[in-house]
This record gives sequence, structure tokens and C-alpha cells, in this order.
Amino acid sequence: MEVKINAFVIKSIDYKENDKLLTLYSLESGKITASIKGVKKSGAKLKFASEPFCFAEYILAEKNGRYTVINASYIDSFYNLRLDLKKYYACAVIGEIINVFAEPDVSDKALFSLAINAIKDVCYKGEEISTLASFLYSAINALGYGFNSYTCHACESIIKGRVFYRFKDGLFSCHNCLSEGFNEIKEETYKAFLNVVNGVEEDNKFLDGQVYLIKFLLYYLNYKTDVKLKSGEALTAFLQETSGAK
Ligand SMILES: [Zn+2]
Repeated sequence: MEVKINAFVIKSIDYKENDKLLTLYSLESGKITASIKGVKKSGAKLKFASEPFCFAEYILAEKNGRYTVINASYIDSFYNLRLDLKKYYACAVIGEIINVFAEPDVSDKALFSLAINAIKDVCYKGEEISTLASFLYSAINALGYGFNSYTCHACESIIKGRVFYRFKDGLFSCHNCLSEGFNEIKEETYKAFLNVVNGVEEDNKFLDGQVYLIKFLLYYLNYKTDVKLKSGEALTAFLQETSGAK
């Protein structure tokens, strides 16, 4: 039986002598694992279809519940990602989130379009960190670990000055309304969070707050799910090195 899917590669690992094993994320069937033969040989016709983040129409052959890629026609290779480490690391976070949290064989059109649009923006626009922060915020909500609010939990105002957060129930607090269990977070993190909530696209010039926000969102996800993303650590280490944000 043959299946046609629109999908991008979220993971590609060596398999047997000349093959690879791909984890694809598809519009039609969610996450799918498929082998692709001979792509490690030079000049292999389908080599492109085994590269990370390649977005293509894949034709799979199914046999005993296992899939093999028999053809692919590419939609976008997102080649820029291979030329720019920051872009590559940002997309690695998107790929890992999908790999860890998306369900196998279940279509999720909203999550698929969130992910593919974020990869597109990271690849072709300059504001990759802002794009990644928005993706993380939206993906966390889409996966059901959403944020309760963005105003102070007690006085319900937008917080000015010092900001506090309680991870247990996902609440912000201003200094006046503080109660037990809140930890202070950076004001820049909160400002960047509000911009994401309001859909404000930020310039890379104001990178610090966005880097803090990404760390905050990854910590939040870790708190809620116990999953620590390897790609998240690689990205934040890279950003700290290149931007000087602490
Ligand atoms: Zn308050």
C-alpha cells in the first residue's frame, strides 16, 4: 500500500550501511517513522529527502506496519538553516518539541502549521529568536500546558516593576500582591512574554529579553512535563556565548 504525505524531517539517523531512518512530521498523519534506502551513497536521488527539516511530499510504501520512502518531491529544503548556526539551533528546538510531544499517526493540523510556519520564518526572516519564542508559547498552549494568565494573579493589572512567578499554578504576581511560593523573574522576561502574548514581533536588537523568555518557557515546559530539551540547552548556551545575555 502506498501513502502520500506532506511532511518535514524532524530526525534523521544512520541505519544499516547506506540507509537512514527518518522521523517525519506530516500534515496528514502526524509523526511517522520511515526508512529511506541508499541515501548515504554519493549521488543518491533521494538524498535531499533525508536531510533535517527537508519539507517534501513523500510517497511511502507500507508493509507490515513499516514504512519506506519510495519517492519524494521537495517543497522546500530550508537550505539556509545549514548555513546559519543560530537558525539551525532554533529549528532544532522546534523539531525536538515535535519529536517528543507530537503523537504518532495522529494528524494535528494546528500543531503542524505552527511548526512549519515557525521553521519558514526562522529560515527566511531575521528575527529567529522572536519567532522561536512565539512558537514555544503557542506550542505549549497547543499541547495543553497553557499559561493561565499574564496579569498579576490578585490585582489583575499588567505588572510594572518587579515581577514574580509561581510555576506550581502558573501565576504572575506584582510586588504588592506577593504570597507564598512565588519566585522573582527578570522584568525583561515579562516584557518579552507580554509581547509574545500580544503578537508583537521583536527586533533582534532587543535580544536579551527574548533569550530570557526562551529560557523561562523551556524551564516552564520542563516543570510541567519533566522533559528537558537537549536542543534547548544547546541553543541557550549558543545564545549566551554570542549575545552576552546571562
Ligand atoms: Zn498585583
